[in-house]
Amino acid sequence: MEENKRKIVRVEIDSKACISCGTCTVLAPKAFEIDDQGHSIVKDSWKELSDEEIIKAAKACPSEAIMLFDGEGKRMEL
Ligand code: SF4
Repeated sequence: MEENKRKIVRVEIDSKACISCGTCTVLAPKAFEIDDQGHSIVKDSWKELSDEEIIKAAKACPSEAIMLFDGEGKRMEL
């Protein structure tokens, strides 16, 4: 089914925007972890999560620091 195709091909964190709240690491520990600078970073295992799980964590970010990109390289609206 077309709807089941993954849309997210890249996940990035704007580390300047990240306020180190840890919400994303709680909601999606397979996708995000806090580095030794205190900012969230994207783990390779984010690909094990569904688009919905990633989007849920990105939407929960209070500073909109989680950026999701589609196959055309465009930042996805959340
Ligand atoms: S939810 Fe946003 S601000 Fe909080 S740690 Fe994750 S990326 Fe940083």
